[in-house]
Amino acid sequence: MHLARFPRVSLGHFPTPLEPLNNLSKLLGGPQIWIKRDDATGLASGGNKTRKLEFLLADALEKNADVIITQGATQSNHVRQTIAGAARLGLKAKALLEKRVSDFGDDYQHNGNVLLDTLLGGEIVAHLPGGTDMQQAMETYADTLREQGHRPYVIPGGGSNPIGALGYVACAEELLYQSSQHRLRIDHVVHATGSTGTQAGLVAGFTATNSRVPVLGISVRAPKVKQEDNVWNLASKTLALLGVSGELPRDAVVANSDYVGDGYGLPTAGTLEALTLLARHEGILLDPVYSAKGMAGLIDLIRQGHFRKDENVVFIHTGGSAGLFGYRQVLEHV
Ligand SMILES: *Cc1c(COP(=O)(O)O)cnc(C)c1O
Repeated sequence: MHLARFPRVSLGHFPTPLEPLNNLSKLLGGPQIWIKRDDATGLASGGNKTRKLEFLLADALEKNADVIITQGATQSNHVRQTIAGAARLGLKAKALLEKRVSDFGDDYQHNGNVLLDTLLGGEIVAHLPGGTDMQQAMETYADTLREQGHRPYVIPGGGSNPIGALGYVACAEELLYQSSQHRLRIDHVVHATGSTGTQAGLVAGFTATNSRVPVLGISVRAPKVKQEDNVWNLASKTLALLGVSGELPRDAVVANSDYVGDGYGLPTAGTLEALTLLARHEGILLDPVYSAKGMAGLIDLIRQGHFRKDENVVFIHTGGSAGLFGYRQVLEHV
């Protein structure tokens, strides 16, 4: 594979740091935990969507688009980063939000990512009920814009299609480069998985480089088999886009859905414990929807003895701290 063959714009600060979490590792009694700081990609408070958008928005420019349409839950980090990336490139950005989470009050509706969406110049064109077919709603809206003479480019939720997943193929390459620089043998990569582009890109990247680094996705929403099937599908399409032949083994994709709790966007006791542990022992802000759920899974698996003490586990911090301000009601008393 040769990633430089794909159109790409520069939106983030890369490589992101790979740092040891010494306090947390000590507290849990091993393995050695490392954190890949994709919360520090630098685009309007950062996060994992920045990597995907470097390829997606380059494709939009290539196709001569003048307006970007995307969608997400009310407190979507993807929507915020998409609007920021579009602003950088001089493109208009329109967002459709879905009320996927039961109400956490006024802050959830208006603060955090929602506040930043409009500050960054995006327009929230609709705030639709939970369960709406959001892809269909975007297509319908795109037709309306086309009738008005615009050239819309539609980015799926989470930026998760083969072009977006290239961003995490690039992250796999970056991790391998850092691992050889630091002489760090990476035994496991763990992160929160939702719309699947992050895990699909990592699996495709580690497969294409024949590096066999196992990736464990901690699901924030879907049950295990469904999540794994979705990741496998996108990883396979991403490998095809890269021109890598051969079928991706189904067992290259592993997800764990034991930490979802009551559903998407609803923090569990474990989520809140992970959030406060990282804040108070490492000075690192996770988020209540994704990264703290992923970290809660990692912490619990460590306590269960899932990893050997001499192993190196890299947790990818996928960002989301802007969403903390939408969860004031939940967080002010933890
Ligand atoms: C979107 C998101 C994820 C999940 O990544 P996917 O590629 O959608 O699976 C994880 N963490 C944060 C903070 C996110 O915004």
